[in-house]
Amino acid sequence: MPTDLKLFIAGEWTEGTGDDHYEVHSPVTGEHIYNVPKASQADIDRAVSAAREAVEEMRHWTAFERAEVCLRVYDLWQHRAEEVARILTLEQGKPYHEEALGDIEESADYFQIAAEDVKRLSGEVLPTTERNRRMFTVHRPVGVWAAITPWNFPVMIPMEYLGPGLATGNALIVKPPEFTSWALLEVGKVFEEAGVPKGAISIIPGAGDIGTQLVTHPGVDAVGFTGSSATGAKIVSMMGLKRSIMEMSGNGPTIVTSDADIIKAAEAAVYGAYYNAGQVCVATERLIVLDEVHDQFVEAAMKAAEEVRLGDPFDENTNMGPLNNEPTAQKMDRHMADAVARGAEVLMGGKRASGYPTDLYYEFTIIDKVPEESAVSQEESFGPVLPILSARDDEDAIGVANRTRLGLQAAVFTNDLTKAFYYADRIRSGTVIVNDSTDTWETFQPFGGAAGTDTGWGRQRIHEFTDLQTIVFSLREEL
Ligand code: ADP
Repeated sequence: MPTDLKLFIAGEWTEGTGDDHYEVHSPVTGEHIYNVPKASQADIDRAVSAAREAVEEMRHWTAFERAEVCLRVYDLWQHRAEEVARILTLEQGKPYHEEALGDIEESADYFQIAAEDVKRLSGEVLPTTERNRRMFTVHRPVGVWAAITPWNFPVMIPMEYLGPGLATGNALIVKPPEFTSWALLEVGKVFEEAGVPKGAISIIPGAGDIGTQLVTHPGVDAVGFTGSSATGAKIVSMMGLKRSIMEMSGNGPTIVTSDADIIKAAEAAVYGAYYNAGQVCVATERLIVLDEVHDQFVEAAMKAAEEVRLGDPFDENTNMGPLNNEPTAQKMDRHMADAVARGAEVLMGGKRASGYPTDLYYEFTIIDKVPEESAVSQEESFGPVLPILSARDDEDAIGVANRTRLGLQAAVFTNDLTKAFYYADRIRSGTVIVNDSTDTWETFQPFGGAAGTDTGWGRQRIHEFTDLQTIVFSLREEL
């Protein structure tokens, strides 16, 4: 029996006033697992006006009081982690033991870190040209945020906005995709229990049209978006002059240089390609191997791939589950067909796996001799594929890495310190990882796209959720 979910609006659980709902099926089992109401314009208006009231209410709170609420969220969360992680696996497909549980636990950390940060968030006292003038800055909340989030990390990504956003006195309306909204709605119960002011966090699942209604709403001051560059571009054209953090697609290049630790590089690359079935914006999307070490690398990668165990994501032995949805699987099909047509060589996988309850289980794939112009190299594949491209030398490798419109997280394997800096200086990427997977992650890492790319701007750090106000004070008399 599917569960009937409710929306979390203005601190209340509601069916909303719309007359429609979404039916959601599990990528793991294919079953109809829940229904979630489709919000009406009136529901969205209500969330926005409650959010505005919450911002007003929190104006009277100190940073320490806001930190207190965030820490309560963090504490209460710990007791619910297993339950929420189970739902996450069922709706998203990621392996429960290997990923979902850790994912949910780590998601709570955003509230703990924000609680610590906000207590130390200070302004400046600035020198002035006039003797009787005093000038200082304070961090004000931005106001009401619409956070439009994707389906690959349905709980963690919203928390990147909610933790620092709430700690700094903002109100946020999160819109997860309707088909990965259950786990997040469960977390809504934690917000309620922790005493988050009514309306400071609302959760309204839905498709793109609900997102559009939110980002264009005159009562919304700022937009946080994590998703594809194509959708991000539409949002930017619609939202007008609102503040924003835009975190969009990556095409994670990993370069394996001639002096790299090949085994380590191969293991890290395989991990970066299969973790969350490759549905990660920092996944290892392109492997650029110097000709000199190509054969050695391919052998090591084939060996490392023996560790990938596709299967039922609730099984303890599984470390790769199904893809989340059919459009993503179709993109993989398209990228594979295109690469093969252009002469790439399939070393393993390359197709959907048979014998599973849904058609979304995809074999772990390694393809070699991938031409640079193929779709799997140019676009974000978002699937479990490791495409190997070759480079003659370091200069050539940098050229291949940078010939893309995307620049989120890159990796380079080298044991030569000078070479590591040479690559870090030249690769156009928000983050460059040396000697580890592109999928390397720290909760408090300043994370986002390099300027000049289609990956976006902003870092989900506490300052980005505040507006710096300057106060200039004129004393009546000179001291
Ligand atoms: P993906 O391609 O990975 O599904 P998208 O960028 O399409 O990612 O989606 C990311 C988020 O943006 C989701 O919450 C989705 O519902 C939302 N979204 C999609 N289209 C629009 C739109 N036109 N306006 C606002 N939000 C949108």
